[in-house]
Amino acid sequence: SDYGGSNGTTLEKMPTIKFTKLFINGEFVDSVSGKTFETVDPRNGSVLAKIAEGDENDVDLAAKAARAAFDHGPWPRLSGYERGRIMMKFADLIEQNVEELATLESLDAGKLFSWNKMFDIPGQAATLRYYAGAADKIHGDVLKMSRELQAYTLLEPIGVVGHIIPWNFPSTMFFAKVSPALAAGCTMIIKPAEQTPLTALFYAHLAKLAGIPDGVLNVVTGFGPTAGAAISSHMDIDMVSFTGSTEVGREIMKAAAMSNLKPVSLELGGKSPLIIFDDADIEMASDLALMGILFNKGEICVASSRVYVQEGIYNEFVKKLVEKAKAWVVGDPFDPQVRQGPQVDKTQFDKILSYIEHGKREGGTLLTGGKRIGNEGYYIEPTIFADVKEDMLIVKDEIFGPVMALMKFKTIEEGITRANNSKYGLAAGIVTKDLNVANTVSRSIRAGIIWINCYFAFDRDCPYGGYKMSGFGRDFGLEALHKYLQVKSVVTPIYNSPW
Ligand code: ADP
Repeated sequence: SDYGGSNGTTLEKMPTIKFTKLFINGEFVDSVSGKTFETVDPRNGSVLAKIAEGDENDVDLAAKAARAAFDHGPWPRLSGYERGRIMMKFADLIEQNVEELATLESLDAGKLFSWNKMFDIPGQAATLRYYAGAADKIHGDVLKMSRELQAYTLLEPIGVVGHIIPWNFPSTMFFAKVSPALAAGCTMIIKPAEQTPLTALFYAHLAKLAGIPDGVLNVVTGFGPTAGAAISSHMDIDMVSFTGSTEVGREIMKAAAMSNLKPVSLELGGKSPLIIFDDADIEMASDLALMGILFNKGEICVASSRVYVQEGIYNEFVKKLVEKAKAWVVGDPFDPQVRQGPQVDKTQFDKILSYIEHGKREGGTLLTGGKRIGNEGYYIEPTIFADVKEDMLIVKDEIFGPVMALMKFKTIEEGITRANNSKYGLAAGIVTKDLNVANTVSRSIRAGIIWINCYFAFDRDCPYGGYKMSGFGRDFGLEALHKYLQVKSVVTPIYNSPW
């Protein structure tokens, strides 16, 4: 490939995959049906392991275990401090297994090994510790209501939670959901994506070693329409927290409504705009635009897939951007020089390539990329389309791949209107030196997170989630803790008080 620069390094020795079964009530077990499914290495399509395929029956067993652990077990009854200590131990165990976890994550999801090892996996320990520290600081309010009445609010765990997780950030999404739910005192069932089950099962093993009681954290691997659907329609699961596509989010909400009206939290798709103004530093703006669409091979819901550039710098910006895109190194995720690994599986790979063909047919100008790389594995060239219009499919749909739609605009008002012209509202980026422009645009964009002169600037203390059809409910921050809690008001009369 001419997207060279790689030194061809790869993983020398395949690790032994130790955990392939469902984790229910503290034990690794086969599925009731005995069925398994294959999880695949996206570098070459080879089978990594056969994983137990859970369905409705297994979800039911997990729900019973989680229900019993909630209704009768110690977890929700421990003090927040004691739960926090166990979570801290869980975090330590992750740190002791970083190398192996990072390897599994790269093999299963095609994510960069060095990034997993340095940031992603250690970051999970940090997320656990963040919420562990919050577990003993959960408190309600005291309400002085009237001379005759006073009340307090008690924050209680919502109960048994179902977490349905996507494949693009298997570890980050697991802990974004599991950590606050554990801190709140909930018990849970996690369904990892069928493409990427390996790290979730490893985390189940570490949870047990850390001392999380049996039944508190269950992992049911399997497919969406079977295991996933069984979670959203289960009568004994009290809440569902989901990250994934808008279409599936709708199914989950429907199933939740039709069963026990369980609340749902949905972090869904996006088509996030990055708006670059004439006064921007072109070097920085082009770096942000590229990273915004190529990080994690574009498999990220907050990707800056629509880039709007003000006309004064458009030509110069495009020149820089294309130059940098051509130097971007795509290849084996174990090679430290590589910046983009393979797409997660054949389905996603084919979907992205078909969007690219569609973009060409619709009249977009391909500035660079557009093809697969090599003839093995699911590698795709960094791809940039210019001369696109808002009604084209490649501008409207979430592609979830390394494909950017580049557009030109004139005024601030036009930039805002066009950025908001999407059914989604997950994230947006603004590049300008003008504070007033940055503030005005931030207030005008309907999206859950705005990055000014940065992109993907992540911190676990910062809530993430959508406006519009990007969903509702927030992951991360104390916002996420509160979604696993419910409020009880306890009211008492006061007799003969003059106050
Ligand atoms: P993507 O389109 O990015 O693959 P999905 O939204 O399809 O993402 O998948 C995210 C998660 O939702 C996965 O764990 C998947 O198995 C699950 N899922 C898919 N379909 C359903 C469904 N009908 N009900 C519940 N979960 C589902």
